[in-house]
Amino acid sequence: MWKPYRRAIEILQAVMLTGLPFLSINDQSALRFDIPTLKLYVFGSVIWIRELYLILGVSLFFLLLIAFVTVIFGRVWCGWLCPQTVLLDLSQSIAKLFGRKHQKTVQILLQLPLSALVAITMIWYFVPPAETLNSLFVSSTLTSFFLVLWVAVYLELAFLGRGFCTSICPYAMLQNALFDKDTLLIEYDVSRDATCMKCDECVKVCPVGIDIKKGLSSACIACADCIDACRVLSEKRGMPPFPNYKGRILRPKTFWLGGATVAAGVLLLLLLWSRPPVDFLVTRDNAPLPSGLNRYSYTIYNNGGKPLDLELSSPDNVTLIGEHSLVLPPFSVLRGRILVKSTGKLEQLHLNISGGGIAINRESVFL
Ligand code: SF4
Ligand code: SF4
Repeated sequence: MWKPYRRAIEILQAVMLTGLPFLSINDQSALRFDIPTLKLYVFGSVIWIRELYLILGVSLFFLLLIAFVTVIFGRVWCGWLCPQTVLLDLSQSIAKLFGRKHQKTVQILLQLPLSALVAITMIWYFVPPAETLNSLFVSSTLTSFFLVLWVAVYLELAFLGRGFCTSICPYAMLQNALFDKDTLLIEYDVSRDATCMKCDECVKVCPVGIDIKKGLSSACIACADCIDACRVLSEKRGMPPFPNYKGRILRPKTFWLGGATVAAGVLLLLLLWSRPPVDFLVTRDNAPLPSGLNRYSYTIYNNGGKPLDLELSSPDNVTLIGEHSLVLPPFSVLRGRILVKSTGKLEQLHLNISGGGIAINRESVFL
């Protein structure tokens, strides 16, 4: 029976997705996009919006992962992991405990708190959980976002439900283009049709209301409920279930597509780990200033999870007017300006930042 495995994986997925923002690495959520500073916290590291090559790396990795999972394992995401399926399955399972008569009403009522949990979880991926809980119903922006999300998720779950999977979901439409003849799918064994008892138990349990006996349907979410329902009857007759998983997992495509996905993941990690702990950018301002004075703007990115105390200096024969001691909290960016006073003529200006024994960056700028 597949159902107990599916339920276990669904519960694990729900706990993981809800709990991930609470997992703190280097004092930040394991996965969170910070809108005001446009940076993505990802498992103890940070990706700034200006780091396009890393964003492209992340996108490439996920595109390959989606292609690999879909080509080889078919609709495994839809039937086993998709939050939409998980929410509908869990609310349906709990509602069943209240009897057939009240099942539908209880399920719709249960979806109210579940939708609220989904809405607040979505916010946690943008605003730290503690801040969300403190500001909810205090900050009008946060409260409005929460209420809009809650209503949207609830209406989608209660009124579209499985219809979303069969008619709107863009991933479901993409799947048809990616499948090949060996993709893992749930299929009715037509060769044994003469021995099928035509009890239609497989049809009664199907959450999207299709008859698997009529052939493959793009609406099937591969939940395996029809296999379980058929197995109850067919095993009594010493036969395997008529609908069953069909496909070939171990084949050349598995290895080259899987290999490409792993290679993209490793490349992404290497790019992340090989970044300097500090990025230091300097530009000269064009502001009109008295002779011998120039103004420079600098931006310093702390890419690490530790605070940095840095000293701004120049080895050239100049005087720096402005803040020299710079404090950068973890994963922060510091923007500032410094006036440079020179007595003689200089061809170039060198600006250094140093401190903490971790980073010394030097930029050379024409005066
Ligand atoms: S549940 Fe099995 S035996 Fe019954 S109709 Fe479906 S495929 Fe045939
Ligand atoms: S046909 Fe079977 S696997 Fe497909 S959605 Fe219906 S019950 Fe699930």
